Amino acid sequence: MFQSLIILIPLFLCWGSFLNVLAYRLILNQSIITPRSSCPHCESLIAWYDNIPVISWLLLGAKCRICKNSISLLYPFIEILTAVTLFLLYTYIPHHYFFGYFVFFSALIVTIRSDIETMLISRYVTLFLVPVGVYLSAQGLLPLSLRESIFGALFGYFFLFIINSVFKYFRNVDGIGEGDFDLLLFIGSFTGIIGCWISITIGSLLGSLYGMCTLLLSHQSHDVTTYLQTTRIPFGPFLAFGAIIFTFIQQQIFHYLLFQ
Ligand SMILES: [Zn+2]
Repeated sequence: MFQSLIILIPLFLCWGSFLNVLAYRLILNQSIITPRSSCPHCESLIAWYDNIPVISWLLLGAKCRICKNSISLLYPFIEILTAVTLFLLYTYIPHHYFFGYFVFFSALIVTIRSDIETMLISRYVTLFLVPVGVYLSAQGLLPLSLRESIFGALFGYFFLFIINSVFKYFRNVDGIGEGDFDLLLFIGSFTGIIGCWISITIGSLLGSLYGMCTLLLSHQSHDVTTYLQTTRIPFGPFLAFGAIIFTFIQQQIFHYLLFQ
């Protein structure tokens, strides 16, 4: 355990660092291979010693070495999130499912980063990976059947479609972003109908909790209507966290459903 911790955590932190770059470049439509990473403010190239996951961010005091503009907290957050979740995957999930969930978690983490930062989700890490989820399920590399994967994807998409149609009927605007449809289609293909449903439930709970906390902390706490009309909270990160949590508790959930 200790040995794998020493080897895997640095590797997963570096992978998290790559996912940061991937999230940033997919949204800006930049190449993911070249050029080398640069500061988004002054565009100076980042030296290797300023690119060490988490440590460089701390040593630099969250500021660019050249222009002193701040470096987002999202960088270390995504790196630590990647390392912790992938290490838990490696430790608690049967090893023949590791590759499937590694792809799943990586895409979810890219989604979390880009949706928090830009309110956009790239289809490269959602819609385009649905066939991968279906294929891995068919090959027994995820704990669900081909049929469960396909129905999970369809369930995810149509569930949000119905919710959004109801919202649109009453409010005359889209309540759910287009990227969230692709995201739930993707989550469904890797987790099936029950997984998709639990991810939505956990995601909605987390989203509501976050909404209530920010409402209580905001200065407009006396005016709930104004807050709801003016504040947009990205739903994608909460859905993604819901899917990550489901992955770790699915055995307990299925055990509960079967033996109740
Ligand atoms: Zn700079």
